[in-house]
Amino acid sequence: MSSGQPIKIAISGGGLAGATLANALLKYPHLDMNIFESAPEFSERSAAVGIAANAQAALAEIGGVVADVIERAGGVTMTSSRLCMASGPIAMSVVFDIAAEQRGKVVHRAALLAEFGRIEGTAMIVRDLFG
Ligand SMILES: Cc1cc2nc3c(=O)[nH]c(=O)nc-3n(C[C@H](O)[C@H](O)[C@H](O)COP(=O)(O)OP(=O)(O)OC[C@H]3O[C@@H](n4cnc5c(N)ncnc54)[C@H](O)[C@@H]3O)c2cc1C
Repeated sequence: MSSGQPIKIAISGGGLAGATLANALLKYPHLDMNIFESAPEFSERSAAVGIAANAQAALAEIGGVVADVIERAGGVTMTSSRLCMASGPIAMSVVFDIAAEQRGKVVHRAALLAEFGRIEGTAMIVRDLFG
């Protein structure tokens, strides 16, 4: 930038997208970024989060300290998964199977977001950006 002033960026929401974006932008020193998150703490949303092979590849592409963030958050490799209907007339029918060779990882969502937040420069401001 010609003025030498950093470009200010506000990221709305410190969920999976916001936390990943913030970490991807860290390598650009001319960006002055803040993450605004309305929730005072992260929850599990009823289940751990599965990180598919393509999402793992995207994190590896970002690189640096993000590359092994799933492992640091306690993620484990899924050997195989089956998704079934939980209720209704076709309860327990199989929606799909994910084969073991696809090497997905499963991790506690709140632990993963906390681990993202531990990376220097990505601390969140607890505030509803539009409230
Ligand atoms: C039960 C469930 C299970 C899922 N399991 C998987 C899975 O296994 N694998 C997978 O890949 N995906 C899964 N998903 C989908 C995945 O959670 C979403 O695709 C992903 O969370 C989207 O990321 P996001 O950052 O856009 O949104 P979110 O993760 O929802 O984050 C948005 C954040 O923005 C904050 N926010 C909202 N409004 C404001 C505001 N005005 N100001 C400040 N902050 C604000 C919210 O508090 C929240 O923290 C699942 C979803 C659900 C509901």
